[in-house]
Amino acid sequence: MRKQIVAGNWKMNTSVAEGKELATGVMALVNTVQNAEVIIAPPATHLTEIAKLTKGSAVKLAAQNCSQAASGAYTGEISPKTLAEIGVEYVILGHSERRTYFNETGSLLNEKVKAVLNFNLKPIFCVGERLEERESGQEKEVVQSQLAVGLFNLSEADFAKVVIAYEPVWAIGTGKTATSAQAQEMHQFIRSVIAMRYSKTIADKTTILYGGSCKASNARELFAAPDIDGGLIGGASLVADEFINICKSF
Ligand code: PEP
Repeated sequence: MRKQIVAGNWKMNTSVAEGKELATGVMALVNTVQNAEVIIAPPATHLTEIAKLTKGSAVKLAAQNCSQAASGAYTGEISPKTLAEIGVEYVILGHSERRTYFNETGSLLNEKVKAVLNFNLKPIFCVGERLEERESGQEKEVVQSQLAVGLFNLSEADFAKVVIAYEPVWAIGTGKTATSAQAQEMHQFIRSVIAMRYSKTIADKTTILYGGSCKASNARELFAAPDIDGGLIGGASLVADEFINICKSF
């Protein structure tokens, strides 16, 4: 069986004190989750403090971004080496907000993926089409190209460490969720593209998350789809019991 994961992307929300409170709330409930790995991705400024809290618990930590370099003259950047040092296990890469507002290109993301893997961190690699791309029937082409440029020059061993998140841009933070049929169709497509590039065995083992206005009220239907292995959750991850209810929706 594939690993099921629910990851909470807090984005640039919460003060450090609020973040610690939220992490504590998630930790208090995590033992009620049976079928999924639970990950939280606080802002980078919170990670050191929150890592001290989550150390030894079932709650895993993710960063929301990192540099392609390990160290050096990169003012303002976050080193993957340091993330590993403080106990972070995953890094979200290629989120549509990073692609759009920070002009992150596919080739830069590919460098970041390699940097993350180099420090034994696991990428949660986001792909997804914009509304106009879906409306013009290009959604599969767009997602396939994001996968090819961002990931498909990895070795099999490295690719096996990657988690993919399908996040249609039109569903992020909009309250507009993809239907489970739309999400399933894309997840199945992603798995078929992975099978073509690597193998069916690897494709069948790849965890593919859905993200985009996923909440406790719709998670169960989405996660019931055969190729949806959990969720990347934005807004609904900012309330501990709502987030945990999503984690229990398998
Ligand atoms: C996200 O930003 O990854 C996300 C899925 O956001 P939301 O759940 O708020 O749509």
